[in-house]
Amino acid sequence: MSSRAAPSTRPVSAGSATRDAGGQGSSTARIVTSITMAIVERRLAPGTKLVEQQIADVFSVSRTVVRQALNQLSRDRLVTLEPARGAFVATPSVEEARQVFEVRRMVEGSLVRQLASRITDAQLAQLRAHLQEERAAVARSDVSGRTRLLADFHVVLARMQGNEVLAELVADLLSRSQLIALMYQSSHSAEHSQAEHEEIVAALERHDARSAARLTEQHLASVELNLRLDPRAPDLAAILKPQAGD
Ligand SMILES: [Zn+2]
Repeated sequence: MSSRAAPSTRPVSAGSATRDAGGQGSSTARIVTSITMAIVERRLAPGTKLVEQQIADVFSVSRTVVRQALNQLSRDRLVTLEPARGAFVATPSVEEARQVFEVRRMVEGSLVRQLASRITDAQLAQLRAHLQEERAAVARSDVSGRTRLLADFHVVLARMQGNEVLAELVADLLSRSQLIALMYQSSHSAEHSQAEHEEIVAALERHDARSAARLTEQHLASVELNLRLDPRAPDLAAILKPQAGD
């Protein structure tokens, strides 16, 4: 199950993995992938200290290699390096969370709008297969599987545009969103997200660009809305209103 996990949710580090194929470089890439997946699948919480020596022991590499991996993760904004204190899983601020979701609505809304007019039958079949996997993971309450698949959906869509820069940008935003969702405990249910993905694909099947873009923007807005970014003042009227029927 985990064998197919790594590539699609990888953030912008994909380039360095190919550049450094073999030797130290591949160890670095392996550590980057493992830590990224652990963050994205919610096994590593924001603020967790990443101890160089422990990581070196786990991967049987030198601390230099670990440091290279942590530098890469820091460039991907998944890890914060603090002088004299070490490396920590990043803890994005509320403002950063808002900005990430704003950019995702702009980027993903317009990419889906463009994709709708030119999506091929083969791509639609790929999306339907992906939805089927999502449904199965949701049905069997496979938390890490469904988290990965629900995130992958957005990367799969971005790849279909055939623009590698765009695909990397979306993968990067996705990783940051996952970290934000982890930190602000999204109550947006997996079932809800899954149902919204079905609607987006249905609009793409109809080649309905406007609906596809609108549904994508709404989906991202509802994911963001369910983050506890903004503890709202309690609605006193609703709380005190006598219950209907009594
Ligand atoms: Zn989604």
